[in-house]
Amino acid sequence: MKIILLGPPGAGKGTQAKIITGKFAIPQISTGDILRKAVKDQTEMGKRAKSFMDSGGLVPDEVVIGIINERITEPDCSKGYILDGFPRTLIQAEALTEALTALGGDIDFVIDLKADAETLSRRLSGRRVCRECGQMFHVEFNPSKIDGKCDKCGGELYQRDDDKEETVLKRFEVYDTQARALESYYSTSGRYKPVDGNASMEDVSQKVLDILGG
Ligand code: ADP
Ligand code: ADP
Ligand code: ZN
Repeated sequence: MKIILLGPPGAGKGTQAKIITGKFAIPQISTGDILRKAVKDQTEMGKRAKSFMDSGGLVPDEVVIGIINERITEPDCSKGYILDGFPRTLIQAEALTEALTALGGDIDFVIDLKADAETLSRRLSGRRVCRECGQMFHVEFNPSKIDGKCDKCGGELYQRDDDKEETVLKRFEVYDTQARALESYYSTSGRYKPVDGNASMEDVSQKVLDILGG
């Protein structure tokens, strides 16, 4: 099963992707996570991506398209995967369709998590992420058992630089300029499923799993 998760920053894409991964045993592919790791490891790609990420803008299409084209042909993707944070532009969506056609497949579900501006702001300002394993927590809605430490691996929790208020506004703006094009690209087919992401994690995941038939 191949799934795309669309939605603005803070909508809960990563959270839902991790729940789906657990249920269906298919990998989560997060371009944000892959890029943050490249920045941390100071690879050539990371050096190139960093300034775009810091400013809240998008990394150039060809960089993320390259990441995805490589990743989806790895052996663990043979039964499917969940794309979290890709595609983010029409060019990326078209490149993905092209790559999938060449591989002889297509996306099964496009889940579009919708949430209000107020919900998104509260989620991003309270988001904390594990430096080691990438698991996300929320100071209010999903706190870790020990303050500042990851429940899964004991790693240190930090606030992403781009989750600070100045950058968040820019990221919303960037999202809004691309969202309609992506929605109209996918909404012509029955696989496009908008979901109200304002509800609790459990309620959202129930809706998502109902759609996926889990
Ligand atoms: P969020 O989970 O808050 O939506 P991500 O972790 O997905 O944020 O992305 C963080 C940053 O990484 C983005 O602001 C952007 O700079 C870069 N990025 C991630 N995915 C893409 C993509 N598909 N295209 C371009 N840039 C991307
Ligand atoms: P995205 O990947 O779309 O940027 P995340 O999954 O990282 O979003 O979620 C953003 C923040 O909101 C995280 O701190 C997460 O723990 C929290 N969160 C996610 N979904 C919900 C929800 N349904 N209700 C409350 N908090 C949530
Ligand atoms: Zn961890």
